[in-house]
Amino acid sequence: MIEKVLIANRGEIALRIHRACKEMGIATVAVHSEADRDAMAVRLADESVCIGPASSTESYLKKSSILAAAEITGADAIHPGYGFLSENAQFAEMVEAHDLIFIGPTAEHIRTMGDKIAAKQAMIDTGVPVVPGSEGGVSSVSEAKKIARKIGYPVLVKAASGGGGRGMKVAETEKALEMAIQTAKTEAKAAFGDDTVYLEKYLGQPRHIEIQIIADTHGNVCHLWERDCSLQRRHQKVFEEAPSPALNQAQREEIGTIVAKAVKKLGYRGAGTMEFLYEDGKFYFIEMNTRLQVEHPVTEMITGIDLVREQIRVADGKRLSFSQEDVLLVGHAIECRINAEHPETFVPSPGTITDFHAPGGPDVRLDSAAYAGYRIPPHYDSLIGKLIVHGRNRNECVMRLRRALDEMVIGGVNTTLPLHRRLVEATDVIDGTYNIHWLEGFLGLD
Ligand code: ADP
Repeated sequence: MIEKVLIANRGEIALRIHRACKEMGIATVAVHSEADRDAMAVRLADESVCIGPASSTESYLKKSSILAAAEITGADAIHPGYGFLSENAQFAEMVEAHDLIFIGPTAEHIRTMGDKIAAKQAMIDTGVPVVPGSEGGVSSVSEAKKIARKIGYPVLVKAASGGGGRGMKVAETEKALEMAIQTAKTEAKAAFGDDTVYLEKYLGQPRHIEIQIIADTHGNVCHLWERDCSLQRRHQKVFEEAPSPALNQAQREEIGTIVAKAVKKLGYRGAGTMEFLYEDGKFYFIEMNTRLQVEHPVTEMITGIDLVREQIRVADGKRLSFSQEDVLLVGHAIECRINAEHPETFVPSPGTITDFHAPGGPDVRLDSAAYAGYRIPPHYDSLIGKLIVHGRNRNECVMRLRRALDEMVIGGVNTTLPLHRRLVEATDVIDGTYNIHWLEGFLGLD
């Protein structure tokens, strides 16, 4: 029985996990670096432990310090959030070796899905459609050229261990392929310590549509519909919505069922997301994330299901609190990621928040650990909050988002709020007619 959870993360997600625990009557332990002493989750948690200096390699990524903190405080379980150690199979193993519960999938599933080549193969085996490409890693340029000729240019060179859009290079022609492979390999080696790359057909105008799933250890798997995350900059999501304006109910039921069946076949437990590119009515699997996603609130808003609560329940061996028929899809939800960055140059803007006013009113949710007087440390990513709104339909949702963005004030640092205010006025965003390249065009980056 989980009675105390250690939250191995920081920022808004640490607070999000704390909130779910409190609503379940579970005690919380916040771990933090020296730079995060004044963090909201640290203030609110029942206990807190400083696990090291500001550098994340010496704190949030330091497995031994986190395990020691769990032991000292007598926590029963560790929630890794997203990023940091959330998709580190070795950490999941270490947690279980210390007789603690890892709130996430098994180390084996994390390992398989963390290797994009193995993940693609697992999907092919379970009947999920994938992007055409090389069957495994490409070992030589001549082999790559052969495969590229077969699938047709342009092709995308991707890192097997990739993440965050790194180690990804497009080659328009055979001549450019050699260079693309070299650059992708160098980038992948530096970022992930693994220079294995593979080839994929580069899709021209796709949307990014992902399916949220959750599974318990009793063989129950549910999908929670899709999220459309096509508004991206440098392959990073900026604005997400659910349901996707590109799908009808029959299409979403079909892909949801395919995904839930595949997940059941894999024997997966916990929350996860299967990411697809969607073009001309067809889905192509790109990767599976074995953790909670940043954009999970849009799913919570349309289904009324608390995903963190369910993650904790299934980690504790309980059954999902609902079945597929209970997973409703009500209205529409949109999330804006608010980063402490310049809204045009995207240069990070750490510093002290001097003014902070959260929007309110019906169906407005703000997931943020920021407050007036909070000093954003320069050591971590620049996400300072997520504004999520719900409406009975997409139009109501967009109108509500506009007024919520107008109400919101963050002073003292640059933020991407002005970008979101521009986005909700753009015709293609209002109409929902955008693809993964649209935002870079809008920003004048293509
Ligand atoms: P990462 O793990 O680095 O985020 P993903 O495989 O999830 O990489 O892809 C991130 C984004 O890159 C996708 O949302 C999409 O915008 C783009 N992308 C990935 N694969 C392809 C492809 N085959 N064709 C076109 N764009 C792609």
